Amino acid sequence: MSAHLFAPAYKPEPFWWERSPLCAEPEPSLPASADVVIIGSGYTGLCAAIQTARGGRHTVVIEADAIGSGCSSRNGGQISTSIKPQFDSLSAKVGDNLAYDILKEGHNALKWIGEFSEAESLDCDFDVVGRFYAGHTPGQFEMIAKSIENPQKGLETDAYVVPKSEQHVEIDSPDYHGGVVFPRHASLDPGAYHKGLLSRAREAGATVIGNCGAEAISGTAGEFTIATAKGPIKARDIIVATNGYTRRLTPWQQRRIIPIGSYIIATEPLAPDLIQRLIPKNRVINDTRKLVVYYRTDPAGERILFGGRVSISETDPTAAAPAMHAEMVMRFPELADTPITHAWMGFVGYTFDEMPHLGARNGIHYSMGYCGSGVSLSSYFGTKIGQQVLGLKEGDSPLTHIDFPTRPYYWGKPWFLAPAVRYYRWKDERAA
Ligand SMILES: Cc1cc2nc3c(=O)[nH]c(=O)nc-3n(C[C@H](O)[C@H](O)[C@H](O)COP(=O)(O)OP(=O)(O)OC[C@H]3O[C@@H](n4cnc5c(N)ncnc54)[C@H](O)[C@@H]3O)c2cc1C
Repeated sequence: MSAHLFAPAYKPEPFWWERSPLCAEPEPSLPASADVVIIGSGYTGLCAAIQTARGGRHTVVIEADAIGSGCSSRNGGQISTSIKPQFDSLSAKVGDNLAYDILKEGHNALKWIGEFSEAESLDCDFDVVGRFYAGHTPGQFEMIAKSIENPQKGLETDAYVVPKSEQHVEIDSPDYHGGVVFPRHASLDPGAYHKGLLSRAREAGATVIGNCGAEAISGTAGEFTIATAKGPIKARDIIVATNGYTRRLTPWQQRRIIPIGSYIIATEPLAPDLIQRLIPKNRVINDTRKLVVYYRTDPAGERILFGGRVSISETDPTAAAPAMHAEMVMRFPELADTPITHAWMGFVGYTFDEMPHLGARNGIHYSMGYCGSGVSLSSYFGTKIGQQVLGLKEGDSPLTHIDFPTRPYYWGKPWFLAPAVRYYRWKDERAA
């Protein structure tokens, strides 16, 4: 590891925490009871809390760590139509109508988050910057160009092809062979967005308490008791909003969520003419490699924030940073000597069918499994699960009515991740 890769002021924590530090205010004490107790203080938990508190329910959000310290203050801030399966493969499993309705939810979530941020005046740099999806080989470029032909009616994205000869308009990288632009995709500052949601939840009357992990749940619907690090609390309804941090507290959900570490580095501010040439339109960017990377400029348009997964098994973000830097330099050779100011990681919640899931199990509500695309999905489905608790029909979603699958011998530790990373790396090296 080269020492010069790290700037003198390097911090092993999210760049977003510079503008939006985690809450250090004194927290209220835990009430003895509430109508709704929400476990987890990320976007899912807070969006659910906004609904239930505005709906007149005494709402308490409890968080094991500092408020917002999960993925919701750590992510890349990229927003797309988000639900992963393609129409053809999904319709082969669930039929055309349900496949359409499920994928439409991703489009709904993208539209919803833009409207919601504006309606709530959230100061979070939400911007419809568009995405450049780059082909890392000529064959992969052909494949993605073909994939946007003849979109399903109602699921159009306005995507268009940019051949290699015109690629410099989108990105200055020798690594790519053309790509596809998705003009409706967006970006925001995740930490500032979380802070805005926290304010709205508190203004609505919700109590949000950090360092108050839920340790056990007993009782039945209408009469739950939750043992926490700060004592017991009774609840009529519970919402589990723990996503990639779901553990033994809720073993049924733990068997259905695959926690996968995702890692990000932030560079020092670049010279204005350099960053303007590398990513001229401030698009969010990813490419066709199976070992996923995602990157963008920061909202000020000064740095590159480069995320992905390079390590075989989970590691310290500082230990992963040199390999992340090398991945960035593969795309932008000019950044070989650009130091890193921040490196961090978090656990995304993946699912076996690559779809989010929400609903109730034994009377306990949950929403989770956004498969790395949770900025819009967790906010949208968090809102819906709050509405479900209120018994509102707008809380319904086709994703409430599908099976939430697990696999035999899976108990919450993804032993298959290391071989999968090796296999994807092998596939990427051989892709034509
Ligand atoms: C590095 C990284 C990059 C990402 N980039 C993107 C991106 O660009 N675009 C995108 O759409 N998505 C991205 N994501 C995913 C996105 O951030 C998440 O899907 C989203 O934030 C999930 O929100 P959440 O509220 O469900 O979960 P989290 O924000 O993870 O919150 C869950 C919380 O539950 C708490 N908790 C767990 N157990 C307990 C307990 N027993 N008691 C109390 N609290 C508990 C945890 O401490 C945690 O704070 C990224 C994620 C990571 C880690």
